[in-house]
Amino acid sequence: MTAVAEIMDYDEVLARFDPVLGLEVHVELSTNTKMFCGCANAFGAEPNTQVCPVCLGLPGALPVVNGKAVEAAIRIGLALNCEVAEWCRFARKNYFYPDMPKNFQTSQYDEPIVHDGYLDVVLDDGETFRVEIERAHMEEDTGKSLHVGGATGRIHGASHSLLDYNRAGVPLIEIVTKPITGAGERAPEVARAYVAALRDLLRALDVSDVRMDQGSLRCDANVSLMPKGSAEFGTRTETKNVNSLRSVERAVRFEMQRHAAVLTGGGEILQETRHFDESTGSTSAGRKKETSEDYRYFPEPDLVPIAPSREWVEELSKTLPELPWERRKRAKEEWGLSDEELRDLVNAGALELIAETVEAGAQPGDARSWWVAYLAQQANTRGVELADLEISPKQVARVIALVAEGKLTNKLARQVVDGVLAGEGEPDEVVAARGLEVVSDDSALQTAIDEALAAQPDIADKIRGGKVQAAGAIVGAVMKATKGQADAKRVRELVLAACGQ
Ligand code: ADP
Ligand code: MG
Ligand code: ZN
Repeated sequence: MTAVAEIMDYDEVLARFDPVLGLEVHVELSTNTKMFCGCANAFGAEPNTQVCPVCLGLPGALPVVNGKAVEAAIRIGLALNCEVAEWCRFARKNYFYPDMPKNFQTSQYDEPIVHDGYLDVVLDDGETFRVEIERAHMEEDTGKSLHVGGATGRIHGASHSLLDYNRAGVPLIEIVTKPITGAGERAPEVARAYVAALRDLLRALDVSDVRMDQGSLRCDANVSLMPKGSAEFGTRTETKNVNSLRSVERAVRFEMQRHAAVLTGGGEILQETRHFDESTGSTSAGRKKETSEDYRYFPEPDLVPIAPSREWVEELSKTLPELPWERRKRAKEEWGLSDEELRDLVNAGALELIAETVEAGAQPGDARSWWVAYLAQQANTRGVELADLEISPKQVARVIALVAEGKLTNKLARQVVDGVLAGEGEPDEVVAARGLEVVSDDSALQTAIDEALAAQPDIADKIRGGKVQAAGAIVGAVMKATKGQADAKRVRELVLAACGQ
């Protein structure tokens, strides 16, 4: 075991150094098929059932570029204010690893499809920080190794490894920032907020599931420090595959503290990859970083260059949806939110969902209260992000409509939502299957009311005598008899009428 690295107090780090960040985000596209073959691109299938000669790298197999993936790359670039290359190529990145059967990854090197853009990121206090984008390029994912027989799931200590090539060849876009300077003490927050903003953007573009927990969005965080007053970048470390927003923030902060302790102690930072350990909040050394020369990049000879016509790019720019920042501005104005309310909704990951629920026909107030109250609670107990709940904004809007039409009470509506979350189908199917509709038929209610009055004659007499407060007991009995499926207000009116009040 290596000892946990020494770290410096965070305030002291900031007194002595300025941090520089570089964020590399890999996003798996949700195209129907893989990047260079017709195999299905789906998460969670039986291992090695979505493979073919191309993605297994069998001799003589020839790749063909997935047009939908190119389209997604260009749309992402446009949304990130990037230039779209007039002409670009794929390149072979040569290295061996068992999860990569071709012995090279088809990627892009010095000719990325889009480059030089930016993303404006809103921080927790409402201020905007601009992150410059260097490039976004297309590549393919590798397969997955499962290291078995050890305690940690890491290769060290494992007795053997299993390989699943279903993910090999899944389309990836890698989005790389320019070095981010000037973030100072907020560097960890900027890193988290950038990944969150990028995730929201990609979700709005509908190009990926953006599930950090399932690996469809992964972040590598590069960190270095410059002594205060210096403008020369220090040596960076690259913490790989950080898989939650919170971990991105913690990993950057930890690396800043570790670098500072090493540098102040007269040591040297090695350019290497590092692993972040969620349980300890610390990083440990991975491999020494290769330089790009080591990969012997060369243009991919089996694929033609890509030259997106300006007309096509123009057409794609028209397919961009309302982007998160535009949507925020509009939501704020149309829903009459304060800055603080807006920020809370954004931080809870609820804004997009509410907006989509409103688009599906719900009133903003209703949409908001469902997502921030009952659904937030459900997400919390399940330990998932709000957006990852198994209910869509459209389905929530349908539940809200059923309440508005008087077909469901709020209580019944929550049971319908439970049913949808449990995979019982669309809201209307859950209502039918569970028999949840409100009893709104007055004659059906009348029978229940007559029975309740007959069962409690003394109370019935009190109401008849003018004590209308006593009606509560009868209303309660009727609600019980109809299993909560009646509208209590209507029941009360009918009870009073039956007693001549
Ligand atoms: P690699 O091939 O090593 O992953 P990339 O160019 O893909 O290199 O990504 C490196 C990332 O680190 C980029 O976001 C870049 O802007 C950033 N970066 C470069 N130099 C430094 C540095 N000294 N400190 C922090 N980040 C840096
Ligand atoms: Mg990289
Ligand atoms: Zn294939």
